[in-house]
Amino acid sequence: MPARILDGSAYAAEIRTQVTREVAWYNAHHGAVKLCAVLVGSDATGRLYAESQRKLSVKVGVEYELIELPDSTAEVELLAALDRLNADPTVTGIILQLPLPPHIDTAVAQYHIDPYKDVEGVNPANIGLLFYGQPIIAPCTALAVTELIRRSAVVVRGAHAVVVGQSRIVGRPVTMFLLTQEATVTGCHIATRDLAAHTRQADILVVAIGQPRAIGTQHVRPGAVVIDVGINRITEQSPDGRDVRRTVGDVDFGPVSAIASAITPVPGGVGPLTVAMLLRNTLEAARKQLRRRI
Ligand code: NAD
Repeated sequence: MPARILDGSAYAAEIRTQVTREVAWYNAHHGAVKLCAVLVGSDATGRLYAESQRKLSVKVGVEYELIELPDSTAEVELLAALDRLNADPTVTGIILQLPLPPHIDTAVAQYHIDPYKDVEGVNPANIGLLFYGQPIIAPCTALAVTELIRRSAVVVRGAHAVVVGQSRIVGRPVTMFLLTQEATVTGCHIATRDLAAHTRQADILVVAIGQPRAIGTQHVRPGAVVIDVGINRITEQSPDGRDVRRTVGDVDFGPVSAIASAITPVPGGVGPLTVAMLLRNTLEAARKQLRRRI
């Protein structure tokens, strides 16, 4: 039987509807939920990304401001700008757009975001608190992955989960979330020997490696739940010989969906849900700051 498709776009729409309702209530009773994004440099992709954040935020009732700083901004100036946002009570959420220019240490800058305003959950303090199962705000992509697993109806407790890719912002937080939910977790990465021998053990397979269609049927146990975090832009030839640009995941969706029990598509899986989680985190951050004040 072909796999159930875990439709991240549909789940994201449900979450946005709920966030819109709750933001309206928050705005009416406690003042505006306001998200500030900081963009350093003139990267066109960063600006496009910010524009799409603005549209999505405004749609759910969140005020959005983009603060643009020049390429030449010194690290200490960026930290001062973050300090001002941290201290401003009208700002309830902060996003630091990446990549930063090479003369700025990303981890130092992320460390400077107030963990209560860190809507992306990237401050090392928030990531570290995952160890204790209670970050103030959790990383959005890891939240999206756990939400998809929850909706796949698989029982996580006692399941064998294999997480391929162990980046600080995606793979490791997912590993930690699954451990907290008492799965038995194997963490694989670039140095793992005989990857397929590990991944074939998985009841739940999460892949976040940035390698187009690298995970095929040889890696997947029939009946497994497969969550594909990868987003890769590739060029392929169409049957009439034209070059076509496509977005594909790290999993070879066609053949793997024939043997998995549930699978996320790319696009339309983890990606849209990550954005919905960012909006939910934005509301959650405002609420937590309010609770801290009263
Ligand atoms: P990263 O480059 O920081 O880390 C990649 C990880 O994969 C590393 O741990 C590396 O050891 C491992 N790896 C690489 N090649 C491997 C291989 N052949 N076999 C086993 N392990 C391998 O990447 P990242 O930031 O975690 O992103 C991973 C993918 O997820 C990318 O495609 C990225 O675009 C995507 N992503 C998607 C979302 C989303 O919302 N859907 C969010 C963030 C990242």
